[in-house]
Amino acid sequence: MAKQFWFVVGSQFLYGPEVLETVAGRAAEMAEKMNASGLLPGEVVYKVTAKTEREITKVMMDANYDDDCLGVITWCHTFSPSKMWIHGFDKLQKPYCHLATQYNRNIPNEEIDMDFMNLNQAAHGDREHGFIGARMRLPRKIIAGYWQDEKVLKELGDWMRAAIGADASRKLRVIRFGDNMRDVAVTEGDKVEVEMKLGWQVDYWPVGHLVETMNAVTEEEVEAKYAEYLERYELDTDNIESVKYQALEEVAMRKILEREGAMAFINTFQDLYGMKQLPGIASQNMMADGYGYGGEGDWKVAAMTTIMKKMAEGLEGGTLFMEDYTYDLEPGNEVSLGAHMLEVCPSIAAAKPKIQVHHLGIGDREDPARLVFEGKEGAGIVVSLIDMGGRLRMIIQDVQVIKPILEMPNLPVARVMWKAMPDLLTGVKCWIHAGGAHHTVLSTALTASMMQDWCEMMGIECVHISKDTTEESFKKELFYNDIAWKLKNL
Ligand code: MN
Repeated sequence: MAKQFWFVVGSQFLYGPEVLETVAGRAAEMAEKMNASGLLPGEVVYKVTAKTEREITKVMMDANYDDDCLGVITWCHTFSPSKMWIHGFDKLQKPYCHLATQYNRNIPNEEIDMDFMNLNQAAHGDREHGFIGARMRLPRKIIAGYWQDEKVLKELGDWMRAAIGADASRKLRVIRFGDNMRDVAVTEGDKVEVEMKLGWQVDYWPVGHLVETMNAVTEEEVEAKYAEYLERYELDTDNIESVKYQALEEVAMRKILEREGAMAFINTFQDLYGMKQLPGIASQNMMADGYGYGGEGDWKVAAMTTIMKKMAEGLEGGTLFMEDYTYDLEPGNEVSLGAHMLEVCPSIAAAKPKIQVHHLGIGDREDPARLVFEGKEGAGIVVSLIDMGGRLRMIIQDVQVIKPILEMPNLPVARVMWKAMPDLLTGVKCWIHAGGAHHTVLSTALTASMMQDWCEMMGIECVHISKDTTEESFKKELFYNDIAWKLKNL
């Protein structure tokens, strides 16, 4: 599928055909050069220099119905009276970006006269255009600056990634092999609300069906998957039988997900009826290929994992299902250790992961094979999506992933260590005030700004814990948000 972003330029008939031709030519040239920059994850496609309400409404409706179009970028080289945008904007269902730029970087001292002014009046046209966005309370991204500057192109690229995530979200199916872990609150959620807001189809498939599919997996299929493990990872166990059992589980899970067109799945150690092992490397290897996974039935984190993996395609760094486990509370140097009982995605591995088999105390099954590794350093974010009852809230926290300060030779799972912003203890307090889960998506590829754009596109609440956050201001923000979202949902 192409990832197109339609470039729609606003104008009117006032300036005569020559000016309109110039505007159209320049818009096409800008699209071409922006694409050639190599900084954009999608393609800018110049569509039209729109002069009438009909043209605008048509292009917006075409954008809605075109599966390749992931968003619309507008710009007003000249002045485009904004009432003619009302119908089109009212109908637009795709993410929208207002690019406030101009064709020329500088004002040409000798050349500038009234003709030049009439042709190059983005400062004038973009304000009229911006008013109608504000008046209609449109969710929108506003990017300002010279269109060939790396900073502007990167900002546009970041927004495109959020739009790629919005598209993935609206097409997402999540398979639940079992239910949520008994008694757990934060992994619950309103699946109808989620489908209305985010587009996810979250459906249950009996574990018995997975076992039936596992029983039909052939030896050749298991051997081929096992060979893939050996190619990708370093074998560090004698228990080959356990590794091959994981391969069998993976083949079966993939078959069901492929058949159903699903990119995310969950399971729980409390419901492995007919299975010998909790999937470990099976889930990890699927995550390495872009599937989302959530432990203990956490379908929200599974869905966010695959969406964020899609947004991060082509970027350096890992994006993975993570869980806050334990702290090191050395004063002034507090860090959080994240892991999971098995299922940490190797996209963050600092070196080639090892396949090991260890005992798993919960679930009452055989010892499962899993990948063990250390996380790679880098600046990143952790993200949690929770159901507040009547609305969804995303909590984003900036983190710095560090090389683990200890070797932890007896810890039988993959591990990632990070410093949380603004500092671990303030960060923890804010996270707890907001109701953030122990399960998160950790990414050293994506930024808070991309996730904020995604939340705006999806129409959900978003709070951000950054280096500048204080507990006092954050508590106030949560309080005001609560009132604002109640009014918004009336
Ligand atoms: Mn967990």
